[in-house]
Amino acid sequence: MPETPVPTIVIEPPVPGRAFSLYDDPSADHDDRVQRSVQWLRDSAQQHPGRIVQATSLGAEDMVLTDLIVRHGIPIDVAMIDTGRLHPETLALRERAQAHWGIRIEVFAPEPEAVAAFEAEHGPHAMYRSPALRHACCGLRKLQPLQRLLAGRTAWVTGLRREQSAQRADVPIVTTDDAGRIKLNPLAEWSWGDVWHHIRRHGVPYNPLHDAFMPSIGCAPCTRPIAVGEDFRAGRWWWEDDHRRECGLHLPSHARHAASPMASTL
Ligand code: SF4
Repeated sequence: MPETPVPTIVIEPPVPGRAFSLYDDPSADHDDRVQRSVQWLRDSAQQHPGRIVQATSLGAEDMVLTDLIVRHGIPIDVAMIDTGRLHPETLALRERAQAHWGIRIEVFAPEPEAVAAFEAEHGPHAMYRSPALRHACCGLRKLQPLQRLLAGRTAWVTGLRREQSAQRADVPIVTTDDAGRIKLNPLAEWSWGDVWHHIRRHGVPYNPLHDAFMPSIGCAPCTRPIAVGEDFRAGRWWWEDDHRRECGLHLPSHARHAASPMASTL
């Protein structure tokens, strides 16, 4: 197996509350946006009783969504994918979130045998060697568990926002995924300032890595802090071209396959 150059990721110690000083800047119609999001969640829960789930990454947007779900007593389950490469801070946040809201966040993980076989063939740092291997890792650690997370569901909720990246600029409030499930994006029209205003206003727990200049947090090997002026998602898979910077969770299958031939086989 060829030697894989592994980048050094430097994370400054988080400064508690720094995210608020940087980002708490709500839109003029913030309260209306909240009301609309709650109504979309309510309507979807009514239309898909017992078959709707929030797939949370435990990022800032997803913490807001869980807060809206719990605060308004909306019957939507909450579940996450533990890829096996998450930061300790993210894993600890699950515990804090469960205690804060008194809920259970179900965890879905990749198949251990498949991960072991992949790492035996390609090593633990394969994601840095080629886009195909990176997408293969995401397929194995994220897309496969997502299929199990969504099994039996007719609708799911995500924290996608239009402002997050150029690829997400047209995210609709409601769409359907490849399997015909309803995919609800209740925060599509929210700004980053709206997200942080809600977090501060309601004391929502959040990942301390947001206080270390990491607005978008994924797996530890694939997330770095960003510099002033960089895009929110510049710290995700930063060694790749811009158009490839998605893990596939929110891409239609034809786009996933175009991004990585290997992803379609995993
Ligand atoms: Fe693998 Fe990185 Fe994708 Fe996580 S984000 S599944 S470590 S390639």
